[in-house]
Amino acid sequence: MDKTISILGSTGSIGTQSLEVAKKHGIKVKALAANSNAVLLAEQVNEFKPSVVCIYDKSKADKFKEMVKGDSVKVLTGMEGLCEIASLNGVDTLVNAVVGMVGLKPTLAAIEAGVDIALANKETLVTGGKLVINSAAEKGVNIYPIDSEHSAIFQCLQGNGMNKLKKIILTASGGPFYGKTKAELGSVTVAEALNHPNWSMGNKITIDSATLMNKGLEFIEAMWLFDLSPEQIEIVVHRESIIHSAVEYEDNSVIAQLGVPDMKIPIQYALLYPKRLECPAKSLSLTDIGTLHFAKPDLETFDCLDACIKAITAGGRMPAVVNGANEAAVASFLNGEIGFLRIGELVKSALKGIENKSIQCLDDVLLADREARDFVREKIEGC
Ligand code: NDP
Ligand code: MG
Repeated sequence: MDKTISILGSTGSIGTQSLEVAKKHGIKVKALAANSNAVLLAEQVNEFKPSVVCIYDKSKADKFKEMVKGDSVKVLTGMEGLCEIASLNGVDTLVNAVVGMVGLKPTLAAIEAGVDIALANKETLVTGGKLVINSAAEKGVNIYPIDSEHSAIFQCLQGNGMNKLKKIILTASGGPFYGKTKAELGSVTVAEALNHPNWSMGNKITIDSATLMNKGLEFIEAMWLFDLSPEQIEIVVHRESIIHSAVEYEDNSVIAQLGVPDMKIPIQYALLYPKRLECPAKSLSLTDIGTLHFAKPDLETFDCLDACIKAITAGGRMPAVVNGANEAAVASFLNGEIGFLRIGELVKSALKGIENKSIQCLDDVLLADREARDFVREKIEGC
């Protein structure tokens, strides 16, 4: 296929599945980037023969260069390396599949260079939505969603012309702790929180799915991608993860996108848009599934979701604040420093305790993120 991509986060869950899709359709891979997984990144360099690669963690660079010395590949490091890859000439689409708001700067670099983006890194839109959407519009850059719900909405909007969207129905699996009370969640372990019922994903998003922060981030992501107000988004818990989301038009007709829970479907749609070709994901059998269930989310127990809705309703830098607080809190939970319920408490207290300001430029976002992380650190260390 006459298409060339680069992938940031190529060693992760989305990154490796993107490579699988690229391989199936003969898509050329010009550049790859990861944080520190030198072994897998070197294997990918060997197989996909990119001309440029970035290992973000500078302390791994020497070992990594040694591992790829037989391949003719340019090795970069750090944020400069990610931004150089994001803005390479001759690339049709950048797959941004890094985890966390570290993905924002490379996204902006890609837009500046006129490179279309297949976006998995939702933290990019949560923290810098206004900057990203405005600069993409200015440069005529397309952003194709990889997140399954947003891909579903994007797919449901195809062929719609100018018809007015009434609302979207954003589905949520509910995660491993659906139906539990706060009292029951007090003692959950990291292993229990990492055990997602339907999806196999990286650790950070799996914890976000357990707290429902992920749905809060997706609520904000949807507002930026589809130009919606908070009132136009209904979150519906749908345990089976078969309906990936739906849209409702003015005439109350609802159009949904269905499929097995496999990220290769939305990844492939983002990479091949508007083409639909054979995909390495299973076909859906509704009769095997039998029944689909729907329920309202529990915003009181899963307070991260509530905090995200409040943050985007407040606007300004509050989405970046709740995101930064969450990134810091989740890292501490995964390290065993804090309990599961502390994540929501910390996110909520950052939303209350940090002053809102407007976002005019990237530095405003980075400052909001820094303040939120420091706030969380102080709270944890003060205990
Ligand atoms: P993983 O943890 O599996 O992978 C993260 C990837 O990002 C790894 O390749 C990691 O490298 C890389 N990375 C992390 N930090 C940096 C950095 N500073 N510089 C360069 N690379 C970096 O995450 P997922 O694939 O699960 O998620 C990626 C993004 O996609 C997240 O924003 C997530 O919310 C979103 N998403 C994921 C879904 C999924 O099914 N997994 C579904 C929908 C959205 P290394 O391996 O070296 O650490
Ligand atoms: Mg999703």
